[in-house]
Amino acid sequence: MAPSVVCAWCGRRVREGSPGAVSHGICASCAGESGQFPVESLGAATPAMLDRLPFGLIRVSREGTILAYNAAEETLSGRRRADVVGRNFFREIAPCTAVAAFEGEVAKLWGSDSGGRTTFAFVFEFPGGRVLVTIAAARDPGGDVATLLVQATP
Ligand SMILES: [Zn+2]
Repeated sequence: MAPSVVCAWCGRRVREGSPGAVSHGICASCAGESGQFPVESLGAATPAMLDRLPFGLIRVSREGTILAYNAAEETLSGRRRADVVGRNFFREIAPCTAVAAFEGEVAKLWGSDSGGRTTFAFVFEFPGGRVLVTIAAARDPGGDVATLLVQATP
């Protein structure tokens, strides 16, 4: 079994693993707020790189089309990326997010000229049930793509 992963910044448990074995990573909130996570380079990240992140990651266009969906998000949501990439996140995949508390927060990113970031809590209506998550969202500087980092709240 893989070691547990603990956020090196805030100490929060990022991923459960074998007892006693701990490695350090970064939680979605710290990644979004600190700028430690290289959101600016995500456009160049390969799917394999995104799959190694210890939290869910979704890349969406300004219109909400899903461009990337990593392995952790597949596990969290119970959805396969082949079923979601190319479809609209807010309208087709997760209509529970088409509210001010989620889509409205993400929409604020488009109003800033460069590198907007926001963090908020949200209750996702996943196929397998409700999950309280922390969302850290960031817009690519000057771009029309936003990255949503998703972490279940224990
Ligand atoms: Zn943290």
